[in-house]
Amino acid sequence: MAPPKSALNVPDNPEYVSDIRYIRLRQRLVEQLREKGIRDETVLEAIGTVPREFFVDEALRSESYGDHALPIAAGQTISQPYIVARMTELLELKPGCRVLEIGAGSGYQTAVLALLAGKVFSIERIPALARLAQTRMRTLGFHNTTVKNFDGTGGWSQFAPYDGILAAAAGPEVPQPLVDQLAVGGHLVLPVGDDKEQHLIRISRTESGFRQEMHGSVKFVPLIGRHGFSELKG
Ligand code: SAH
Repeated sequence: MAPPKSALNVPDNPEYVSDIRYIRLRQRLVEQLREKGIRDETVLEAIGTVPREFFVDEALRSESYGDHALPIAAGQTISQPYIVARMTELLELKPGCRVLEIGAGSGYQTAVLALLAGKVFSIERIPALARLAQTRMRTLGFHNTTVKNFDGTGGWSQFAPYDGILAAAAGPEVPQPLVDQLAVGGHLVLPVGDDKEQHLIRISRTESGFRQEMHGSVKFVPLIGRHGFSELKG
């Protein structure tokens, strides 16, 4: 993990330490993301801190610092580092803030968020992935994350409102419960669309209402649930 001078919420005493090879590859990835237009230095520092190799199958570890998605269990994917960085940047997180993530998957994005936020609530609909993501958080020494297994399209009202909400799977439209659970000044970042065309959307809640922006074409796995695609279509 990063040296103590870091402004990030870096955990103490992780049980996992990266091989020096991976530390070098991670720094190279950070440079690539900077060249591709990621500007927020704290986001880049978080990417430079989280051991992405720890979030993929052992057989794929050598590929873990390429800027692309990789397969994980249950037909899902660990998101491309650029898109993780871009979505995190769009959330404009402040220290101590509260974040909701829908689609923990491998847990990689959860760890990036945990370095920048006060508390991360993460939901994953596939039980085995939820369990593994939670175990990984503990092994890395994160105690400000909770990963639970249920349909996240309804949000997690118990801990609402959230300063940032991020979904890593694309539904046919923006789930209304997620909009409702956004704090004033908060941002919701998510892909919307089907397997042919998806757009990254940011909805920001202001004192007077909501503002929506489009942030380009993306490709995510389907968001399956009550306010997403039905199981059969997905
Ligand atoms: N950022 C994650 C992305 C994982 S892929 C990573 O880098 O590992 C998206 C995840 O969303 C999948 O694991 C999928 O199971 C999950 N998902 C899809 N629909 C969901 C829903 N309704 N609620 C919670 N998780 C969902």
